[in-house]
Amino acid sequence: MTRTVYVNGDYLPEDEAKISIFDRGFLMADAVYEVTSVLDGKLIDFEGHAVRLKRSLDELDMAEPCSKDELLEIHRKLVELNEIDEGLVYLQVTRGSDGDRDFVFPSAETPPSIVLFTQNKPGLADSPAAQKGAKVISIEDIRWGRRDIKTVQLLYPSMGKMMAKKAGADDAWMVEDGFVTEGTSNNAYFVKGNKIVTRPLSNDILHGITRAAVLRLADELQFEIEERKFTIDEAKQADEAFTTSASAFVMPVIEIDGAQLGDGTPGPVAKRLREIYLEESRKTAI
Ligand code: PMP
Repeated sequence: MTRTVYVNGDYLPEDEAKISIFDRGFLMADAVYEVTSVLDGKLIDFEGHAVRLKRSLDELDMAEPCSKDELLEIHRKLVELNEIDEGLVYLQVTRGSDGDRDFVFPSAETPPSIVLFTQNKPGLADSPAAQKGAKVISIEDIRWGRRDIKTVQLLYPSMGKMMAKKAGADDAWMVEDGFVTEGTSNNAYFVKGNKIVTRPLSNDILHGITRAAVLRLADELQFEIEERKFTIDEAKQADEAFTTSASAFVMPVIEIDGAQLGDGTPGPVAKRLREIYLEESRKTAI
């Protein structure tokens, strides 16, 4: 089955979809994105992603390509056309193109470009990776200072994933001034006793949609939540650790820089939060 994608108002077979070579998303990474997961053919936390998209666009003075209702309709249509039961919807909005390359932004009348496509991921919820748990390494965080804006500047996170792979691990946690910021594509946490520790929201990290939901659920489950900076050494000595993201939900972490956490298998808190997050997400999916 050929995938149907969405480009600037049209639903097209993926090999017929086109974007200008002058598009600022392509030339300057002048673009923002969102990834929304799909379970049972329904969108998880669409509202959260739509609100964050609007915030990213506002922070960069970029025009909204369409209304929230239209965005929802496009998401739903792509899920339906591509028969996605479990998977992801990727959305990217760029500042568009006025037909040349220039550091100066094009005029405000230049329409943004909008692209959406689906990724079919059967077994996303029952992922073997989550059953096994992830090994992470620490790397220096050398990204720009506005990580709260979800831009497509993903070269360094991508390099971080490759560094992890090369080291025999699954992912990397980034460290700035001695403190963990976040994972290459997820928010980072450790658990000690009844306490869950994660870095507070600021411009230093992405304000994860999954983070907000998981912290709310953890609070309801009577965990103590401490939003503060933490070091790799502290995380290494924790009972367990995990990450959250829309594409991997709650992912247990079983090793940090070669140090095994607990018995080297996913911890009970991460497993429980994953189960409850999936259960609640399925209930509120649209
Ligand atoms: N931090 C970074 C750097 C990310 O790329 C992501 C995933 N896009 C997250 C955190 C998690 O955010 P969310 O839960 O909204 O997917």
